[in-house]
Amino acid sequence: MTLLNVENLTVTYATDDEPVHAVNDVSFTIDEGVNYGLAGESGSGKSTAAEALLGLLPGNGTVESGTIEFKGTDLTSLSDAQRRDILWEDIAYIPQSAMDSLDPVMSTGDQIAQAIHTHRNVTDAKARDRVRELFEIVGLDPDRIDDYPHEFSGGMRQRVTIAMALALEPDLIIADEPTTGLDVIVQDKIIDKILEIQERMDSSLLLITHEIGVIAETCDELSILYGGKVMEQGSVDNVLVNPTNPYTMGLKNSFPEIDEGDEDPVAIPGSPPNLNREPTACVFRDRCPFATDECEESHPDLVELPNRNHRSACHRVKEAAQMRQSADEPET
Ligand code: ATP
Ligand code: MG
Repeated sequence: MTLLNVENLTVTYATDDEPVHAVNDVSFTIDEGVNYGLAGESGSGKSTAAEALLGLLPGNGTVESGTIEFKGTDLTSLSDAQRRDILWEDIAYIPQSAMDSLDPVMSTGDQIAQAIHTHRNVTDAKARDRVRELFEIVGLDPDRIDDYPHEFSGGMRQRVTIAMALALEPDLIIADEPTTGLDVIVQDKIIDKILEIQERMDSSLLLITHEIGVIAETCDELSILYGGKVMEQGSVDNVLVNPTNPYTMGLKNSFPEIDEGDEDPVAIPGSPPNLNREPTACVFRDRCPFATDECEESHPDLVELPNRNHRSACHRVKEAAQMRQSADEPET
């Protein structure tokens, strides 16, 4: 069954200068029990998309168009506040840099208890019991619920934020860069913990990260964003094994470990697109080694490919196999 269906979502930010077109006509669907990845380099619109669907955009952000259905209910007609109330019950959100935004002057346990009190009518003792239980679930010592954020390491603080997000047993966990800034061993532990919890609570996962290696390991399906556009979408097996979009091919070369290769990572040359204009040409053309005149004329539609569960936005998608081969060739 479909849990979350986002269609044609477009979000802009007002600035003193021209508006920023951060998310442009983005659609994706997360089915129950699916782990979904949202990938793309910094500035591609990942966090904006998540904040828009949760009703948590900053004041200068506007959802220009699109529909957001959660369990069959259209959320776009609701106010941000109404949407947040509904979603709090069902969606756990671990925002980007969550571990750095804990309140330094309140004990970690009190912060989680406060979140529980906001949404549940329970006694202090019950809330404390639940906090101890949540500490255990995320692998923290329940005897430390009265400790303050500074008494924990980065990885432990991230576990606290996960505990807080899980307080109400969500159907969907949205985690935005949950391991960025942590060392590699701690990263693996946090990802394993999220997966363990998600399986135990039988929830779906929307994992947002620029590291496609993490998505390859943990997700069933994904969307790859660039310049606020979905460039490629579908099952991880299709998209990351046989990419049809030059942007995905470039991303893969910047994370060679996903093919278990031992090549050095090769970053995509160039810089992200100017988001001050609505895309009229392919958003990736300036950095694309395969761009032609057609790519200047329009941004390609996201089209369904013949194999199941695979969509790509590239004017040259029919030549994907040749492009893939040439993208894989070592530089001479
Ligand atoms: P990162 O990997 O760095 O977290 P992201 O993919 O999450 O990046 P977003 O944070 O969604 O990207 O940003 C998308 C674009 O919108 C960027 O160009 C960013 O600078 C811009 N942006 C984000 N927030 C605002 C804001 N409040 N006002 C103006 N522009 C913004
Ligand atoms: Mg982000």
